[in-house]
Amino acid sequence: MVVFHTVTDLHKQISLLKSTKSGVGFVPTMGALHKGHISLVKESLKENDITIVSVFVNPTQFNDQKDFDKYPRDINKDALLLDEVGVNIVFAPTVDEIYPTPDTRQFDFGQLDKVMEGEHRPGHFNGVAQVVSRLFEIVKPDRAYFGEKDFQQLAIIRSLVKKLELPLQIVGMPIVREASGLALSSRNERLTEEQKKDAVEISAVLTESKNWIKEFKIQDFIQKVSEKINQTNSLHVEYFDIVDGNNLQSISEWSDSDYVVGCIAVFCGEIRLIDNITYLKP
Ligand code: AMP
Repeated sequence: MVVFHTVTDLHKQISLLKSTKSGVGFVPTMGALHKGHISLVKESLKENDITIVSVFVNPTQFNDQKDFDKYPRDINKDALLLDEVGVNIVFAPTVDEIYPTPDTRQFDFGQLDKVMEGEHRPGHFNGVAQVVSRLFEIVKPDRAYFGEKDFQQLAIIRSLVKKLELPLQIVGMPIVREASGLALSSRNERLTEEQKKDAVEISAVLTESKNWIKEFKIQDFIQKVSEKINQTNSLHVEYFDIVDGNNLQSISEWSDSDYVVGCIAVFCGEIRLIDNITYLKP
């Protein structure tokens, strides 16, 4: 496996490989890799001759400078992990390589980015769209892999690809969790042992809440889930929304959609965690 830092070197390697192989799979990440990322990588390795993983902490998608500064980074550890699973190419560019000039593009996702993460992290999805479209332009993948952990991001990427008419397939992959139920996240690295135990309560309550949908109307349900999670000292729910999984808009009755998803953001101390759950209706 080789790690490339410039677009030119990456392109040379891709064209060399493309002469004998077909199918480029791409997994964009911000590094601090865990089994969630690796599940995407393994799917790409299964479906493509060439798999490229990018490791780039994108400054334009952070609305909180402290969060960007403290984001865990360890390219050597990431490269080792990717080598072990058989990745051909790692692309770890500098900020200048991705943005030789400032990216001033403004994307319009209609109502998709006005809710949840989009509402609470202004500019976040515009930054995501900037970096992902730039990476797609560089890598030119046939398939790109994203996790359902970032449920809204996946919807935004699908919309981006449609809008830009890009000739590639977006593959969504299920959330990988610890045995405790906690959704794997690079940000978990910043939790203390105590906080990590507390954070388990997020997925525990979401799972338990599947039993409550018969009894509670959506507004009461949202309150019940939020209150239950907030009972744990270090946890504070920023939002919990029940949405139509197709368009991410809030629903007010369980019958309003055939694809009901609960999306949550919770502060555990100062670390912000997200998770989601699909509700099968009775
Ligand atoms: P990130 O490095 O956080 O930008 O994530 C890179 C990709 O990995 C995104 O498509 C995420 O949705 C995906 N991902 C992160 N955590 C998980 C997880 N626990 N399970 C599945 N996919 C994940």
